[in-house]
Formats: sequence, C-alpha cells, structure tokens
Amino acid sequence: MIRELIHDDAILSTPCEPATAEDAPVIQDVLDTLASLSDAGCLAANQIGVTKAICAVEGDDGKPFVMLNPKLVFGLGPQRVQESCLTREGVVNVKRHIKIKVDFDELVDGELRHRRREYAGFTAQMIQHMIDHCNGKLV
Ligand SMILES: [Zn+2]
Repeated sequence: MIRELIHDDAILSTPCEPATAEDAPVIQDVLDTLASLSDAGCLAANQIGVTKAICAVEGDDGKPFVMLNPKLVFGLGPQRVQESCLTREGVVNVKRHIKIKVDFDELVDGELRHRRREYAGFTAQMIQHMIDHCNGKLV
C-alpha cells in the first residue's frame, strides 16, 4: 500500500526498533511507496511513519532491494557529498564512504536470513543515508 511521507521530526529522530519476520506488510508498503515516487532512489520505513529498521534502495539495475536491520561493518574512502532527503528540506553536506560493507537481514520464505555485502558508489551512499534513517539520525 502506498503511504504518505512523514515530515515529523519526532518520528524521524526516533531510533528504529529491529525489524522481524512479522514486518512483511511494512516491507510491502515501503516498496509500494518507493515505486510511487518518481524522484526517489531509497526509502526507510520511518519515512512512512513506521519506526522499524527497514529500508529499500534502488540498485544499479533500477530494481529496489530491501534491507532489514542494516549496519555498517566498515567503510572506505570518506568523501564529502551533497545530499537531499525526501522528508527534509534543503541540501546538506555530509561525509559518506565510497565503498562499504554492510550487515543486514533479508526476509526469505517468512524467515530472516543474515547477509553481508559490499556496495560502492551511489548505491553505497544511499545505503548510508538509509542507515542514518534507521538510527533516527536526521541528515
Ligand atoms: Zn532521507
């Protein structure tokens, strides 16, 4: 279901609770809402009002993938970049790694499976932005 974007700082600054296998409907809402936004490459659950550590990011192929409970394992090559956010006004300067390794869970056949993957470039930047959202950090 497509949900409305939240601009409430009280919700957006709340650290998200761990996602579980029961959160499949929230995952679907994140994907549906992301697909409805023409100018967005990623979306976190708290941006639609659900404070669970769930996000979706469009990969290089344009298809979104879902990360539950994403955590940065390490990052290489910090760089200053300009970033904007769907649920915040304006553009900000932030430091992002060019290359990252991330731990996260994936929901497969009703169970959480642990994953560890590496990402680079703009995908890595979006994932770092999403991890910030999951931690309740406002960019
Ligand atoms: Zn954002």
